[in-house]
Order: sequence, then C-alpha cells, then structure tokens
Amino acid sequence: MENFESKNLNNKRVALNTLGCRLNLSETGSIAQGFKDRGYDIVEFGEPADVIFINTCTVTDSADSSCRNLIRKAHNSSPEGKIVVAGCYAQMEPEKIAGMQGVDLVLGNSEKYKVFEYLDEESENQVHVDKSWEFFGAATTEADTHTRAFLKIQDGCNYVCSFCIIPFARGRSRAISIKDAVSEAQKLVSSGFKEIVLTGVNIGEYEQSSGEKLHDLVASLLAIDGLERFRLSSVEPNTFTDELIAVLKSSPKVMDHFHIPLQSGDDEILSAMRRRYTVADYKKVIAKLMVAFPNAGIGADMIVGFPGETKEQFENTFNLAKELPITHFHVFPYSKRKNTTAAKMENHIHSAEKKSRVKSLIMFGDAKLNLFTEDQIGKITKVLFERRNKLGFFEGYTSNYLRVQVQTELDLSNQISNVCLTRIESGKLFGELLQ
Ligand code: SF4
Repeated sequence: MENFESKNLNNKRVALNTLGCRLNLSETGSIAQGFKDRGYDIVEFGEPADVIFINTCTVTDSADSSCRNLIRKAHNSSPEGKIVVAGCYAQMEPEKIAGMQGVDLVLGNSEKYKVFEYLDEESENQVHVDKSWEFFGAATTEADTHTRAFLKIQDGCNYVCSFCIIPFARGRSRAISIKDAVSEAQKLVSSGFKEIVLTGVNIGEYEQSSGEKLHDLVASLLAIDGLERFRLSSVEPNTFTDELIAVLKSSPKVMDHFHIPLQSGDDEILSAMRRRYTVADYKKVIAKLMVAFPNAGIGADMIVGFPGETKEQFENTFNLAKELPITHFHVFPYSKRKNTTAAKMENHIHSAEKKSRVKSLIMFGDAKLNLFTEDQIGKITKVLFERRNKLGFFEGYTSNYLRVQVQTELDLSNQISNVCLTRIESGKLFGELLQ
C-alpha cells in the first residue's frame, strides 16, 4: 500500500475490502484499478475514505455476518463516506443490506463493475441486482502486490452441489475464449506481473462453457514469452484430466501447488452432496499429480458435519486426509444455506459436534503442514518475492506455496530468486538467498 502522505490530498479516496474466494479477490483487483484510473487514491480499509467498496461472499452464515461487521466498521471510520456493498451476499440479500445504516449502494455480481456509473448518479440507497449474468471484469486483475495476477477465465457454475448457494449468487457457467484469455494475460505480463493464477468459480467447466479445451487454454498461456510462473486455482477432481496434467508437467513455469476440493472422504456423503466423483476417483487424481509433481503442495476443501454425517463418515474424511498427501487443509463446518437441497435434509448435526470435528481436522491439518514444511528444509526452491515485512525480512512464496522469508539488504520486490530453505522458527519458514 502506498504511503498516504505522498498522495494528492485533493484526490478522492477509496477503501476496498474483499471476503471469500480468490475469484472475488481478483474482481476487487479489477475494480480497484478502475478507481485508480478515475483518479482515486486507494487507502487502507478502516481509514477515512470517500468511497468504501466491500465485495462480499455468502458461502456460509459467518461470511454473511463478517460482511455486516465490515459495513459497521466502514460506517464508523467514514460516517460521511459512500458505502458500496457488492457481490454474492449483496446478490442474495440486497434489501437486508440496503436497510443497514450507512449503506448507499447495493450491487449484484454483474452490476458491481458499473459502480462508477452508479456513484455518479448521486441518489441514495440504490439497489441494483439483476440476473443478467454477463461475463464481467474478466481478465486483467491486480493482486495486492504487483507480482501475482489473477486471470479470471470463467464465472458461474452449472453443478448443483446440494450444499452450495454459489449457482444462485453467480448464475450459470460462462467463460472467455482462449484468444481473449491470452490477450489479457499478455497485458498482465507486459505490465510487469511474473505470475498468473488462473481463476474461476468452476474452471473445470471451461470446455462446456467456451467450447474450447481447458488444457489448450493452459498450453497457450504457458507459451507466452515473459510469463515466468503459472498456477491453477481450484479445479474439481472430476475435471482434472490426463491431458491437463500432461500440459502442466510439460512446462517449468507451472508451480507445483494444486487445489482440489475434496469436501468429504465418504462416498455416501459425496453422493448426498451431489459431488461428481467418488473417493476412488479423488485418490486417482492425486496419485497422478504426485507422479507428475512429486514435491507438490496439495490444498483441499473439506466440509465437516454435512446433514446426516455419522462419526464413522467423518472418520472416513479424517483418515483419507491422513492417507493422501494433502498439505493445505481448508476445513469448513457445514453451514445451512437457504433454498439449497441440503438445508431441507434431516439429521442436521449439532453445532457443538460440528465444532469438535472441525477442530480435530484443523489441528491435524496444521500438524501435517508443519511436517511437510520440515520436509522442505535443505531444499533449493525458486521464490517470487513480494515485500519486506515489518521485521525487515523479504517474503514470498515457494513453488509449492509455502511462505518463506529471507534476510537481505537487497530490494527483492517482484524478483524470482533461488533460496535454500534452512529453518523453521515459531512456525515460520526461513531461507537463505543463493546467488
Ligand atoms: S462445483 Fe458445486 S460447490 Fe463448486 S460452485 Fe459449483 S455448485 Fe458450488
């Protein structure tokens, strides 16, 4: 974040905040750029601002309540500022949000990109939420530091997982063409980004939505001169094809970190969730990836306490997570979402029991990540450095998505350097810069 002192005090100020997934983060990046292009200065959320833009999530009840807390915080720090609430929660509960103190604009997922026009309209408490589901804000986005960019190639989802509200909040699947994706990626590379992260709600739906193959898209992106690192965000296990793995393996630009939602390690629960794979399918995908990328970090979402989940079924999830080389656990308690099939199911799990299952899986996940990290000590890896932290160390991510810090006088911002991983202290990974 730039220093506020160095800014033109006549400029308008905007503070942005994002809840939820990487896709939301990438979309906020695009919108932030739009504000900058219109002469706004971006300030930290919580500082006084003329406009406060909150891009929301509605994946769980706690996401909804975090959003309401952010609105209250924004109103306290900028009582005169215009508060814009946009995105998935705004799409689902516009009137409730519009009724909150200080809220000026409520924008759905398509309308959020037109925030600048709505701000010019000057009328108060406007709600703009429709279901046109255009593809917006597609490609060029900016991450919080000028190193990794998120490239959105797909939005919406045609699956109907029984717990999920996202298809209601983001509409049916749609995608951009390979040609457009490459052109946007080229712009990102020309503007200095070294790493591109491919994002979407369900990027495995790319072929259904665009008529082109996901692995062809990835191959075209990997061929871009000047692009140095490439990551995939979440890919559903049933859409992780052999062709895709072959394309990924063929390029040294591909980072060996993959996010493959698991949700449950029990076939009956997977079927009740209407997931499109079995435990055996999931295991096969992971096994293939580990052959291609033996040092990979693997992230997996897991939902604990789905309606009717018995202790044994939870243990199946726990044991599968133990057996497989999953390193980054993303554990969520099942959360009832209105109008979903799962919400109407019987045998909802008591919240105390859910909490205890979640806690045990998170604790186990932390221990497994520590073991994986310890295992990396002595290895040499390339790190894309982002920024100097408050303690004076430079930080960045390894290819398999471990945050590492090094001591150096050099300015390593947006540099890729070889690092020998040397030690873990207070849970943090340290390395030494190699020349
Ligand atoms: S794949 Fe399932 S969980 Fe993921 S967005 Fe689509 S409906 Fe939701």
